[in-house]
Amino acid sequence: MSQQHERSGRCLCGSVRFTFTPAEAEIDACHCGMCRHWGGGPGLSIKAAGEPVVQGREDVATYKSSEWGERFFCRVCGSHLFYSAPSVGYFGVSAGALDDLSGLALTTEIFVDRKPDAYSFANATAKLTEAEFFAMIASSPGKE
Ligand SMILES: [Zn+2]
Ligand SMILES: [Zn+2]
Repeated sequence: MSQQHERSGRCLCGSVRFTFTPAEAEIDACHCGMCRHWGGGPGLSIKAAGEPVVQGREDVATYKSSEWGERFFCRVCGSHLFYSAPSVGYFGVSAGALDDLSGLALTTEIFVDRKPDAYSFANATAKLTEAEFFAMIASSPGKE
């Protein structure tokens, strides 16, 4: 694991601002149906090392989208900010909310078997199906 520097981000309207440190210089894409319905496309996230420091927390609303996951968004403008799955120690930041994405690379796609045929990323990524993803989680408790 290489040491990452702190990064900043915000929602569209600026009511919510945050800083966090990525666990790796990596962006993950999730093609699951929940991310698609939530965001209108694949969910692009960066795993955070710890929880972000948030300004404007009173404008952060949450939606518990599954037994294990919770999604955070700005209640004023609707921007998607974070995804948390505490049972597996995962806290992700929406890649699009960052002020600067330089130095980060799209490295992993999960739920690839749920991806619509309409689009594909050209990046060379590690690709996991839904079954492979859940098998990976089951075999590495406390990890992503
Ligand atoms: Zn906002
Ligand atoms: Zn997803």
